[in-house]
Amino acid sequence: SRAPIAPEDKLLLQYTSVVESPPDDMCSICMRSLTEVSGYLEEEEASRIPQPSGVQSDGVVSLNLCRHQFHLACVREMAKSFPQFLECPNCKTLHGEKLGNQPPGNMNVTTLRSSLPGHPDCGTLQITYSIGSGLQGPEHPHPGRPYHAIGFPRTAYVPNNEKGKKVVRLLREAWRRRLIFTVGPSVTTGMDNCVTWNEIHHKTEWNNTRGHGYPDPGYLDNTLKELALHGITESTLV
Ligand code: NAD
Ligand code: ZN
Ligand code: ZN
Repeated sequence: SRAPIAPEDKLLLQYTSVVESPPDDMCSICMRSLTEVSGYLEEEEASRIPQPSGVQSDGVVSLNLCRHQFHLACVREMAKSFPQFLECPNCKTLHGEKLGNQPPGNMNVTTLRSSLPGHPDCGTLQITYSIGSGLQGPEHPHPGRPYHAIGFPRTAYVPNNEKGKKVVRLLREAWRRRLIFTVGPSVTTGMDNCVTWNEIHHKTEWNNTRGHGYPDPGYLDNTLKELALHGITESTLV
């Protein structure tokens, strides 16, 4: 009888190719040579692991987009923790759609007539994020323990011009992929198990009194780069 295909093996089948004659290069996941067996496997053990048809347990693979090479067992180990996508450990190229662990809530966008410092005459898009406290799930650092949503609803401002509208379109996609917030220690308050911003900077102030407002000429371009690092670009939108 055939074993069902595990999520990490689906990723391997979809986004990697077998390398027939591996070079004597180091695998950056286990730090062993690609000509040796993976640090996650012992040779005899590898031959005993039953695998569904089409999935190998041993050997070397390359990632399809960037072509970087790793032991198959090492990539599988990495894929187990985030079974929706593969991120190349060498160059960060994403294979598949990166999903985060943002807790449930709402994202709402409204328009304001007033214009932000540095962006005259275009008005403003105001984003409101609402998230409540709850219990951490298996995708969070401490499953079963509470998470605290402090300072919600949180409000952010984007100029209502072409680039700003694009940023908000991509932020909606980031919200859908659960990437705007995460759960963990808050740098500002030092408190653990909080809902915190997750590597996509937001302007939560109109002015620069606390350093999170306008003017900031590089802000929209920086945000587009931060979104792209999470795999969110205009070309990925349906
Ligand atoms: P954090 O302190 O763990 O930092 C994560 C990232 O968020 C960092 O990059 C940091 O530079 C950025 N950040 C920190 N304070 C910010 C702010 N006021 N506006 C925009 N970005 C900010 O993140 P955190 O715990 O999510 O937020 C820090 C604190 O800011 C929390 O105490 C939160 O309550 C408060 N806050 C309140 C509002 C509000 O509208 N009331 C909005 C944003 C943040
Ligand atoms: Zn390896
Ligand atoms: Zn790579």
